[in-house]
Amino acid sequence: MSQIRKDILTGQWVIFAANRHKKPYAFKHMHTVLDNMESDCPFCPGNETETPKTKFCTKKDGKWCIRVFDNMYPAIDIDKYEKDEDSFYISKSGKGVHELIVDTPDHKIQTSQLSTDEFADVVKVMKERLINARDTEGVEYVQIFKNNGPMAGASISHSHWQVMGIPFVPEEQEKYNESFSKYKRENNHCLMCDIIKHEREKKIRIVDETEKFIAFSPYASRVSFEIWVVPKKHISSLAELKEEDMLDFAEIFLKMLNKVDKLRAGVCYNIGFEDETSKSEKGVHHWYVKIMPRISAMAGFEYSTYGYINPVLPEVATKRLREL
Ligand SMILES: [Zn+2]
Ligand SMILES: [Zn+2]
Repeated sequence: MSQIRKDILTGQWVIFAANRHKKPYAFKHMHTVLDNMESDCPFCPGNETETPKTKFCTKKDGKWCIRVFDNMYPAIDIDKYEKDEDSFYISKSGKGVHELIVDTPDHKIQTSQLSTDEFADVVKVMKERLINARDTEGVEYVQIFKNNGPMAGASISHSHWQVMGIPFVPEEQEKYNESFSKYKRENNHCLMCDIIKHEREKKIRIVDETEKFIAFSPYASRVSFEIWVVPKKHISSLAELKEEDMLDFAEIFLKMLNKVDKLRAGVCYNIGFEDETSKSEKGVHHWYVKIMPRISAMAGFEYSTYGYINPVLPEVATKRLREL
């Protein structure tokens, strides 16, 4: 069955084309993990001098477990950006934050293999780094994300997360803001709270639930096997996630990553934490986490239109994910 569905948060159309599923995949070698050795890995213990200095770390038995430092090759400058002098085009001044969080000292372990306790500690560090980045002068939005595997854009195989504080609100997040505010204005409810309610009534896209979190395939999933992990209680930011709820989040989140790992050997994926922005109406955004497997690559149609073609309907994806 093919369908065209609208993403309720962004207004973007997604084409579901089940027949594309059967397309031969000729680029198997793209899944090869570009593994570097522990001896020349800048993120391994003992090689700390190969990265900028430690800004924060957690320790056990005198050794670090989670380590935070500035990105050696920041995508966003921590120094001030000057406004360009071209008066025809638009530019802006500002500055940013670009940090890395190495979530394990073990070179061979990925986030999905961490214990619930270990990952809950990582979430605690992420929350602190988010608050720090958000409170940095000039930062308007903080994106926490992870590129897992070469097809997802990772250049170093040692597991790590990135925290980017940027001096503008991206278009995607502007759209979330509009959607959440408009829905609130018209219905006096939170859009995501109502999505959760609807999904719990429908029961066809929920992959799993815990007491405090729900994981489901979004109605207009842009990529195959996309999963959202959402707190049932309305919070607008990771900064509002209570420490006692972090274990619950860690449990369901790791469960989802383990399912994604089983989709295909060496599967790559991106993870994005969707936080409120400086322009969000206070308390209106509902914080959530997106897991986006890279089963198929973004190609000409996607790059030209920012519309998406997804060969797997979310209901089909949910069935498969529940079984894994
Ligand atoms: Zn390493
Ligand atoms: Zn809500």
